[in-house]
Amino acid sequence: MKLLSLVVPCYNEEKAIPIFYDAVMSIKNEIDAEIEFCFIDDGSTDKTLDILRDLNRLDESVRYRSFSRNFGKEAGLLAGLEMAQGDFVATMDVDLQDPPSLLPEMFRILNEPDTKYHCVATRRKTREGEPKVRSAFSKLFYHIINKLSDTEIRDGARDYRMMSRMMVNAIINDREYNRFSKGIFSWVGFETYWIAYENIERSAGTTKWSFWKLFAYSLEGILAYSIVPLYLSSFLGIIMCIVAFVFLVLIVIRALIWGDPVSGWPSMVSIMIFIGGLIQLCLGIVGLYISKIYLETKKRQPYIVKEER
Ligand code: UDP
Ligand code: MG
Repeated sequence: MKLLSLVVPCYNEEKAIPIFYDAVMSIKNEIDAEIEFCFIDDGSTDKTLDILRDLNRLDESVRYRSFSRNFGKEAGLLAGLEMAQGDFVATMDVDLQDPPSLLPEMFRILNEPDTKYHCVATRRKTREGEPKVRSAFSKLFYHIINKLSDTEIRDGARDYRMMSRMMVNAIINDREYNRFSKGIFSWVGFETYWIAYENIERSAGTTKWSFWKLFAYSLEGILAYSIVPLYLSSFLGIIMCIVAFVFLVLIVIRALIWGDPVSGWPSMVSIMIFIGGLIQLCLGIVGLYISKIYLETKKRQPYIVKEER
């Protein structure tokens, strides 16, 4: 019998975990495999850990790792993938926005003999139930990142996917500190089968993503999967040089023909401020990349486990 691991990061999800567990149990028989739960308690401050302990006591297929503090969902996913022992591994949210009812179909596709697929991924058909502003910015983000990066990142793609052991190993072997899962999933390659479904509201609890957290997350994605901004800032520099040179020639010619009465210093100041701003902008872009190198070279551990069972 094959083993299917479910990797589930949880941050303050005391209400959602029991609902999730029951939902998976109710479809368990439709999957032709043993199921193993790999919960990650991402430094929750509520009763999440107690609930995981209880589940582990009642059901030996429930395992968990508890972090010493909140390390973020990306670290949770990595820890879960590392602890999973299954032939297939699915990553999913605990709030049932990633419906367990899709698991049997996903498993069937991957488990088929001679299948070319190593991954079944999901994406949302619509963004219903999400604030309008948030949808608009999401769309913009996917548009920009796909223009800037060679690694395709699908609009509406969720972190809900099931992967073969081979693909999971490839992901674990990618020892990046700044992890952007949507990018890593796509970067490692392998044939992926896409399933689309309607957006579903959270079963319990509230979302952990504020607008600014999402904004930082998208910046993370762009920095991790594109160096186009660096090219753009160099390109901008070249254009400015050309413009400046043309100006220089024109001004010299003008001075030679008509003399050089002192005038136009307001325009001079505007130009200097403008150029100063551009330099600052480009330095900022370079700085963002350097900050990533900085964090990467520290080789900090991506997460710290304080309890594991
Ligand atoms: N999560 C986590 N660590 C965090 C934030 C979130 O492990 O720092 C988990 C959370 O418990 C949930 C999943 O990541 O299982 C997705 O979070 P959420 O539902 O808040 O995000 P949304 O679905 O609104 O994008
Ligand atoms: Mg959610």
